[in-house]
Amino acid sequence: MNIKNYINGEFVNPIKNQWIDNYNPSIGEVYGKIPNSSEEDVEKAYQAAKNAFPSWSKTTLNERSAILSKISFLIKDKLEFLAKAESKDNGKPLTLAKAVDIPRASSNFQFFANAITQFASEAHESVGLNAVNLTLRHPIGVVGCISPWNLPLYLFTWKIAPAIAAGNCVVAKPSEVTPMTAFLLGEICNEAGLPKGVLNIVHGLGSTTGQAIVSHPNIKAISFTGGTSTGARIARIAAPMFKKLSLELGGKNPNIIFADCDYDKMLETTVKSSFANQGQICLCGSRIFVEESIFDRFKVDFIKKVSNLKVGIPVDPETNVGALVSKSHLEKVNSYIAIAEAEGGEILFGGHEVNVEGGENGYYLQPTIIEVKSNKCKLNQEEIFGPVVTIMSFKNEEEALTLANDVPYGLSATLWTNDLNRTMTMTQEIQAGIVWVNTWLMRDLRTPFGGIKSSGVGREGGFEALRFFSEPKNICIEYK
Ligand code: NDP
Repeated sequence: MNIKNYINGEFVNPIKNQWIDNYNPSIGEVYGKIPNSSEEDVEKAYQAAKNAFPSWSKTTLNERSAILSKISFLIKDKLEFLAKAESKDNGKPLTLAKAVDIPRASSNFQFFANAITQFASEAHESVGLNAVNLTLRHPIGVVGCISPWNLPLYLFTWKIAPAIAAGNCVVAKPSEVTPMTAFLLGEICNEAGLPKGVLNIVHGLGSTTGQAIVSHPNIKAISFTGGTSTGARIARIAAPMFKKLSLELGGKNPNIIFADCDYDKMLETTVKSSFANQGQICLCGSRIFVEESIFDRFKVDFIKKVSNLKVGIPVDPETNVGALVSKSHLEKVNSYIAIAEAEGGEILFGGHEVNVEGGENGYYLQPTIIEVKSNKCKLNQEEIFGPVVTIMSFKNEEEALTLANDVPYGLSATLWTNDLNRTMTMTQEIQAGIVWVNTWLMRDLRTPFGGIKSSGVGREGGFEALRFFSEPKNICIEYK
């Protein structure tokens, strides 16, 4: 099936008629083509967005909210269809796409449909000066949204929903590796009555199509989720043009386990936080630190649980671990496993590709546990973004904190303890944008989401996203 660009409410071929293969990673075969869009396609999308802006930015909040709610409803209504498309395109288990990816894409639209009706302007009375200040928030204009392949529709809509809710028009690009559900979203937007040109989706390579969005002088804000090095490249291009930038980048998140935790709950959750979505979630706890007194017990129990995970084809309801997203990504993850031993690491479980029935040429890898001796090794310092976790023991809170913070990243962290004082001191010292205590990946969409250090700049979620996608203007009125 050939995917097309969605520009001005219509599905169109790329101007230069160039195409890229789209792979089904669960069988390693091409199953369609996607546009290899050029600068000209991005310009066409920009013009459509620019023309739609004057009218869209003046729609009432109720009108916008109603359209966003309709999109949310239609996503939910097509859950089965969208989940199958997502799973085929990405390799993730169908059960996961049904339970997480598609419901969350629907929630993103519903959340911002509601949030925009509650997003208030501010007034400051300058007491004694006979003046009042209004702070109004206007939409920016045309904005760019660029998303990665790991949670395709989930992260694509996490940007688009607040952008259009705030009255902007959008030129968006999903990852070239997983374009399908973004393409299907176009049809949903038409069905929901989103006016032409409010959302434009251009498919293609990051280095050309993505870069053309970032370099466009009149696309005034860029919301990007992806790798840290891509984020740095985008920042270099965007900074001299003074664009607003929101960068959600990589992570190397610590999962810190104290002996006083609820052990069974911790074990169960740690299996998920290590290997959900084949470990391809920026929030996965890829560095596990365990208090010395329970380290040996944890190793035995964790290996046992992980060995029960079924690596299989995404459509099998029993599958826990599906295919990695692409051959090149599989090779990247494998290259880290290869250096483990050279770095003094010991592979406690996994480490090999798996031949899966029904997916013989697919990109399957065993969930892999590696015991490392030092946090300084590459395995602990660099983002692997696959089904690979490292484990290490620690002696006390101080050492746990040092290990947790000793990475360039600062996206999220998980802490397992039932000690209130420890919880309070450690959560304040851990260098991360999000800290979960006795849970993982529990999300309240009102909360700010994002990282510090090399994990990014800015926050998404709740009113933070609406603030990002709007420009504040102070109006000061003096009266007699
Ligand atoms: P990439 O950085 O390779 O790509 C992300 C997106 O940017 C894709 O759409 C990509 O297109 C595009 N892109 C690539 N190069 C450029 C460029 N020069 N200019 C503009 N756009 C470009 O990341 P991945 O897709 O490999 O995703 C994995 C990464 O995303 C991991 O590092 C992960 O941690 C991070 N991530 C962060 C999250 C967070 O919230 N902090 C959440 C999820 C993932 P194409 O695919 O076509 O190359």
